Amino acid sequence: MYAPEFDYYKAGSVAEAIELLGSHEDSKLIAGGHSILPLLKLRFARPSALVDIGGIADLKGITISNGTIRIGALTTHWEIASSHDVEHACGMVAEAAGGIGDPQVRNRGTIGGNVVHADPASDWPTVLTALDAKFNIQGPGGANRSAATGDFFGDPFEPKLAANEVLTAVEVPVLSANQRAEYAKMAHPASGYAVVGAAVVVTLDGETCTAASIVVGGCVPAPARASSVERALTGKTLTEENITAAANQVAGDLGDNVIGDFYASAEYRRAMAAVEIRHALLHATEQVHH
Ligand SMILES: Cc1cc2nc3c(=O)[nH]c(=O)nc-3n(C[C@H](O)[C@H](O)[C@H](O)COP(=O)(O)OP(=O)(O)OC[C@H]3O[C@@H](n4cnc5c(N)ncnc54)[C@H](O)[C@@H]3O)c2cc1C
Repeated sequence: MYAPEFDYYKAGSVAEAIELLGSHEDSKLIAGGHSILPLLKLRFARPSALVDIGGIADLKGITISNGTIRIGALTTHWEIASSHDVEHACGMVAEAAGGIGDPQVRNRGTIGGNVVHADPASDWPTVLTALDAKFNIQGPGGANRSAATGDFFGDPFEPKLAANEVLTAVEVPVLSANQRAEYAKMAHPASGYAVVGAAVVVTLDGETCTAASIVVGGCVPAPARASSVERALTGKTLTEENITAAANQVAGDLGDNVIGDFYASAEYRRAMAAVEIRHALLHATEQVHH
């Protein structure tokens, strides 16, 4: 199917992209095009104009300094997956990127496009929420703001971003020596999207878990924090028995809004959330291996 007609503009800078968005009603940005183009072809979106930010060098690349990994919004999943620096600073980020879609998707798709598309089944929202990432956003007149993931994701496909704002970078803390992080997903066999995904970050003092950040994706409209699981893990030794008991508490954290669709019923997703959390925690603590 062909996309409906639209005007096309290529922006040379973030400021120009913002100006073009402001001067063309119903216009949208295009980065890798792997989500926006299918939406156009399916007539789920009919923008009057597309503003191509794909050539803006300032939005590309990865830097690591002062305990922060800064990933430009236009950085592709493949660039993240293949970065030894990212692998060393926070292996879960590189691993999650490497598990997205297929090589074509990873080569074209960008981290910025992925988070702004805000698909509940995407991997980045879950992983970045568990890591307490920050989104750097630029608006008209050079105004910059930073948003926590909890202030960014809400309704599916509706991030809290104004029509004339550009996501410029994602910032993720480098893991400290006593932290472990892992992402596990039940991937849709055709697309790789997470039917259910779980990202875990645990802080250890010797054998004892002193803090846990546990987030589930694919189940409810926005990444869901599994607070009961976090509480159940904190202060405990991360034995298989304690991990299993804690993971089983996730059903209460997901509430009544669990997605049921063609791929998996709500009941199945709720059950798989516990399975994926357990899986991620056992990997993080090296009790099982891929
Ligand atoms: C076959 C297939 C399989 C996939 N499998 C997975 C998977 O397993 N896991 C997963 O997480 N994802 C998956 N995806 C999605 C993929 O990760 C895309 O990269 C991502 O959804 C969109 O990135 P993009 O750069 O292509 O964005 P685009 O399609 O160009 O844009 C997406 C949206 O974001 C907006 N946008 C883009 N960049 C910015 C910016 N910097 N600031 C503000 N707005 C912006 C656009 O206006 C648009 O609304 C899959 C996609 C396909 C086609």
